[in-house]
Amino acid sequence: MSSESATDTPSNFIRSIIDSDIATSGSTGQVITRFPPEPNGHLHIGHAKSIVLNFGIAVSYAGRCNLRFDDTNPSKEEHEYIEAIKRDVTWLGYDWYELHFASEYFDGLYRFAEQLIQGGKAYVDDQSADEIHQTRGTLAEPGTESPYRNRSVKQNLDLFRRMRAGAFADGECVLRAKIDMASPNLNMRDPVLYRIKHARHHQTGNKWCVYPMYDYAHCLSDVMEGITHSLCTLEFADHRPLYDWVLDQLATPCHPQQIEFARLQLEYAITSKRDLNMLIKKGIVSGWDDPRMPTISGMRRRGYPPAAIRDFCERIGVTKKDSTIEMGVLENTVREYLNERAPRRLAVLNPLKVVIENYPEVHEELLEAANHPQKPEFGVRNISFSREIYIERDDFMEDAPKKFFRLSPGREVRLRFAYYITCTAVIKDPAGHIVELRATYDPESRGGGTADGRKVRGTIHWVSAKQAVDARVNLYDRLFNTPAPWTADDIHSQLNPDSLRILQGCKLEVGLSRDAADTAFQFERLGYFTLDHAPESGDTPVYNRIISLRDSWAKAGK
Ligand code: ATP
Ligand code: MG
Repeated sequence: MSSESATDTPSNFIRSIIDSDIATSGSTGQVITRFPPEPNGHLHIGHAKSIVLNFGIAVSYAGRCNLRFDDTNPSKEEHEYIEAIKRDVTWLGYDWYELHFASEYFDGLYRFAEQLIQGGKAYVDDQSADEIHQTRGTLAEPGTESPYRNRSVKQNLDLFRRMRAGAFADGECVLRAKIDMASPNLNMRDPVLYRIKHARHHQTGNKWCVYPMYDYAHCLSDVMEGITHSLCTLEFADHRPLYDWVLDQLATPCHPQQIEFARLQLEYAITSKRDLNMLIKKGIVSGWDDPRMPTISGMRRRGYPPAAIRDFCERIGVTKKDSTIEMGVLENTVREYLNERAPRRLAVLNPLKVVIENYPEVHEELLEAANHPQKPEFGVRNISFSREIYIERDDFMEDAPKKFFRLSPGREVRLRFAYYITCTAVIKDPAGHIVELRATYDPESRGGGTADGRKVRGTIHWVSAKQAVDARVNLYDRLFNTPAPWTADDIHSQLNPDSLRILQGCKLEVGLSRDAADTAFQFERLGYFTLDHAPESGDTPVYNRIISLRDSWAKAGK
């Protein structure tokens, strides 16, 4: 990461805590954070918030951030997700200091569990999961102690070792912490620490048939890595006493500080892995990397620059209160970023041919076009002009009102970087559809002006018919029509039917095919676009619309 982005980072309550930790301890110790995804799905924009926070803090404080796969649950995880998560974190612009799997710590976690048993702090419970659930009590009522709660240390140790050795079937018994069945915090009512699961684990194979629960594994994994600040989302606030309890009982060499922050909830999107998976299963989107998905891979394919996503995560800030962020904030961040950086090109998405009758038939000339209207340092390119060009169908109107400043019969319009043209005739097919226009041009107006200074209000884009490249263009828009689709009983009814419009036969400026494949362009007057990397496209290039030029949702008040 460049230091530039670190110094720009706005402060937040977590940074303030770290600042005061450093100030009060006078410590020169390193700040160590971690990003701990469960490899059971692809990362999404919510994870990006956590990544930017954890890695961003490590960058700012000259500390470290580890990537740790929280793979304590053997049946759910898949190798594919591990690789995808690594790719996504890297693409977002971060290097982890160390890569770990919680499963690496299974031996140590097991030893710690025996230590808890030896200290009389954990016991083997033979009750079923149902019974444990039933006796847990409620917020108003204390729980009931298990009949197995007062087993001797010797008995517990023997049972736990037999659990590990495979003497019991799944669910026959569990290891529980011995805390307080009357605690007002339900998480402290003798939580389960280990369960039996005869399942193969993708990292440890068949070595284990007992697996640690999240709350037990997470705090100790943090200790193993010397994490100083363990940042997690608000729903874990009630788990913090358990986090601290485990570490206190074991007198661990360090005691990471758990700090909770609000999850990111984005309007017009869903970020639950289960719901995202459902969209794929039902064929509503083409996969995890469908450009309409709020996944990191979807945003990458859509053409969102990683720096814009990082910037968005900084802008929304980090708070202790759950709130919903407007989709417009993300889209505007992308738009602003691209406005500054995307080279301009000409493209016609819905072409209508114009034949310029007074332009020499075989002639072709090169016109200079600026790559960015406000940034001369972006340089210029030459675009080809000839007798036949394409303009956007929308830029022509046969019976135009007075205020229509684009092309219509008898009216003059400026072609961007080229000449003034006047429409002289409209050619229609037998069904009455406009198929072609005839026009004349003013040779004096080369470059966009004339000596007589006559007023031409409209400027439209175009491409030379002879030089154009055919392309398919995917016009992406928001996947949902309503700001809070996750609250609906039926998510389907919230889908935006126009979230993808596919346009064939689009005409692109010829130089585009030579430009770097992962560059984002502004197609003038149309929006920002990038080449799609899908393999099915064949010879015809496919461009994705990253984002429109303006926020039509805000304007429409949708
Ligand atoms: P899901 O409930 O969809 O499975 P999760 O929170 O369980 O999501 P993890 O893979 O466990 O997903 O998350 C890894 C890290 O990313 C955690 O520290 C988690 O708190 C954080 N995270 C996940 N979703 C969000 C979100 N929407 N906003 C902020 N942080 C998030
Ligand atoms: Mg999870």
